Amino acid sequence: MGNDVLVFVEQHQGKVHPGSLQVFTAAKELASALSGKVTACVIGSGVGEVAAAAGQHGASKVFVVDDAAFEKFSALNYTRALCACIEVADPKLVLMVTSFLGRDIAPRVAIRSKSALATDCTELTLDGQSLRVTTPLYCGKAVGSFDLSLEGRNILSIRQNAYTAGEPDNGASADTQDVAVALTDGDARIKTTEIVRAGGGVRDVTEADVVVSGGRALKSEDGFKIIYELAESLDGAAGASRAACDAGYQPHSRQVGLTGKVVTPRLYIACGIDGAIQHLAGMRGSKVIVAINTKKEAPIFAVATYGCVMDLFKLVPLLTQEIQQLNG
Ligand SMILES: Cc1cc2nc3c(=O)[nH]c(=O)nc-3n(C[C@H](O)[C@H](O)[C@H](O)COP(=O)(O)OP(=O)(O)OC[C@H]3O[C@@H](n4cnc5c(N)ncnc54)[C@H](O)[C@@H]3O)c2cc1C
Repeated sequence: MGNDVLVFVEQHQGKVHPGSLQVFTAAKELASALSGKVTACVIGSGVGEVAAAAGQHGASKVFVVDDAAFEKFSALNYTRALCACIEVADPKLVLMVTSFLGRDIAPRVAIRSKSALATDCTELTLDGQSLRVTTPLYCGKAVGSFDLSLEGRNILSIRQNAYTAGEPDNGASADTQDVAVALTDGDARIKTTEIVRAGGGVRDVTEADVVVSGGRALKSEDGFKIIYELAESLDGAAGASRAACDAGYQPHSRQVGLTGKVVTPRLYIACGIDGAIQHLAGMRGSKVIVAINTKKEAPIFAVATYGCVMDLFKLVPLLTQEIQQLNG
């Protein structure tokens, strides 16, 4: 086994998942400490540009599985393909983003490639002969540190926005190597027939730098208009609490929390959200949290960077107006 760090570059229809670009930052730090190289693995159909982007973000070599069979994500096919790349690349560490896809395949790949696994890491540091990983526990109420031996291979998924993506070096390019994958009948047990984009083309909460979320206080789907307007003025995405989704004000694809999506944007604005532990589990890792709530005892204020004890129906449109003016 070499000392290289392999980044699994997640892509959807040829577009690189922004979290994968952040993973390169961690990979470069670790590869330099291990005196190894950063390599990458790209799986899909027609993914030449994704492989080129991997080179521009620091990979010296890209292992590519480019075949119509991988056009749509299937956990079993992708597991088979990533394991084939690992066998060829023989890295010490395999890094990927903790996305829905990453959560799905990381444990499968770890088992199959006989590697150790740490998921949702927020910090990775080399400490002599071990790798110290930090991950949030108990819905983010505690933080755990674990030392992984570097004698064997480790698979690590990294929480989105734990690292900042570097600027691409447009002049850089990587060697590419095609990797052949022999799918089995067993792999066909899971078949993806249709991919439905969440929220009808509106940006997903996990992909945005700014998330504006609304709670039950919005009272209706129509009430969410002001949440979307504020989100749009900030070039962000609209999210919701489970109570708002259960009430039918928003689709569950917008739900943030323990049973929804985990987001770690630069700015999270919680409007009329009480701050139940299950909601905090999905957003307490955000860099700056603004809470707008009429009840000053609401638990959301305990995690908020800025708190506004105010009626959201008054404050949110004012904020949108101010930001639109600033945007010119
Ligand atoms: C197993 C399990 C999993 C769960 N998973 C999730 C999850 O993933 N995500 C999630 O969000 N929840 C989850 N929940 C539900 C969670 O416990 C809460 O019930 C839910 O988060 C409450 O949503 P809310 O804050 O919008 O509603 P409420 O608790 O009703 O709070 C509404 C808030 O709005 C404020 N408010 C009212 N009017 C205004 C106004 N005009 N202006 C400003 N503020 C106003 C109120 O003061 C209150 O704080 C889960 C629960 C369980 C048991």
